[in-house]
Amino acid sequence: MHEYSLAFSIFESLRARLAQPEMLPSRVTRRASRIKKIHLRQGELLVLSHEALKEAWRIITEGTELEGSELEIERVPVRVRCPGCGYEGDAKYLAEEGWHMRVPILSCPRCGARVKIVEGKDLAVVALTVEEEVGAS
Ligand SMILES: [Zn+2]
Repeated sequence: MHEYSLAFSIFESLRARLAQPEMLPSRVTRRASRIKKIHLRQGELLVLSHEALKEAWRIITEGTELEGSELEIERVPVRVRCPGCGYEGDAKYLAEEGWHMRVPILSCPRCGARVKIVEGKDLAVVALTVEEEVGAS
């Protein structure tokens, strides 16, 4: 299952970061605080069931230090870069009546050359919300 493997790779990378406290903001220490929320950015080209992802997260984190944490998913538009003219920014979209999805076109809005996608295909962790225990010292 696609969502399960995504959730698992987020879990693995977060655990790797938690194992190296110097990689985290100084107020995040394992004993005094707990991660409440994981903020994710989902590229618009990534097809994903949020429900399945959250369910997978709940299963994977059970019994770990991340148990009880929540995923917050924000969808971000596709960004492209043009090797021809150097354009970087929003993709051009196919505008058709009756389409429910925005379909990005992989040609440069400025010069028409084929562009590269720089953002919009993956899921990335962007921030963590940490709950600090009152009175912990
Ligand atoms: Zn261009």
